Amino acid sequence: MTPLAALLADRIGHDGPMTVAAYMAECLLHPGHGYYTTRPPFGAKGDFITAPEISQMFGELVGLCLAQAWLDQGAPARVTLAELGPGRGTLMADVLRATRAVPGFHAALHVMLHEASPALRAEQARTLAGYTPEWIGDIGNLPEQPLFLIANEFFDALPIHQYVKQAGRWHERVIGLAEGKLTFGLAPDGTRFDSRFAQDPDGSVVETCPAAAPYMRAIKERLSRHGGLALIVDYGGWRSKGDTLQALKDHAYSDPLAEPGRADLTAHVDFEALAGDWPAQRYTTQGAFLTALGIDTRAARLAQALSGDALENHIAAHRRLTGATEMGSLFKVLALTGPDAPPPAGF
Ligand code: SAH
Repeated sequence: MTPLAALLADRIGHDGPMTVAAYMAECLLHPGHGYYTTRPPFGAKGDFITAPEISQMFGELVGLCLAQAWLDQGAPARVTLAELGPGRGTLMADVLRATRAVPGFHAALHVMLHEASPALRAEQARTLAGYTPEWIGDIGNLPEQPLFLIANEFFDALPIHQYVKQAGRWHERVIGLAEGKLTFGLAPDGTRFDSRFAQDPDGSVVETCPAAAPYMRAIKERLSRHGGLALIVDYGGWRSKGDTLQALKDHAYSDPLAEPGRADLTAHVDFEALAGDWPAQRYTTQGAFLTALGIDTRAARLAQALSGDALENHIAAHRRLTGATEMGSLFKVLALTGPDAPPPAGF
């Protein structure tokens, strides 16, 4: 049993079963035992690898998309460039490097990062030392100015609730104890929620992510008042379908209840729930997005300077980011702009 499993078992013994959302929040962000708070999760030695860690091309193309939107919206003199969950700071560093030559863009930027892990904040400070970033705790405090925002694999880490339909009623999935071990069960009382799922048959599982709401509210408020562009990249789809809670350890899937605090826990992102009825939205796959932004040309250009293993790795990275059986179709991109903005590049 991990130390966190023991703590949670104690708590459940005392207070009764806990929701999947409460469990996820403890596993990821518990100050002493949480996954993000206690270990460097990324890269070949970590448990998973993200698009910006696979290739610099990802951040470069995201940067060009953001800078093009800034130009298309009249190159406003002061804007926020924000990232949610910046990890090691690699994506933001690539965005900034790729946009250095866009006249006036860097002078207009105020770089703001939202990061829960103190260890990762320190790493971001080292990676982005030249750009004087500011860390923002409460997303509601984003400045009142145009907002250009990127979030890659951030929303999948926010705690979700799960509900299972039985005899016409939705019951929340909870985590209790059986013979001293963490185990899934259902709350006895039925709950009412999201009318999108009213017609789903018995046995259906749906997930909701109320933790995403304050982020989307803050983003949409800035976009509607001041313009900008928010790019949200993650795995998931249009509408929640089934049980997508997953644990990842050493690049392999594991039982989400087996090692709380030691495995990454995520759920697929429901992009429909994030977008809501926002009028200026675009949605596509990561593969289509990167291809439309010119990843093939960029990859060929970078390949010219490479040979041997470095060239092989570069070709594999290109395929991994865009391939239909790799990240290209599992990962989606949602773009939101202000109501009057021209559509962003890449869609
Ligand atoms: N965007 C980076 C890292 C993705 S991993 C990349 O693409 O490589 C998820 C990131 O979100 C980590 O930096 C993690 O510490 C952060 N994070 C997770 N939950 C968070 C929360 N509730 N609030 C703020 N940051 C969070």
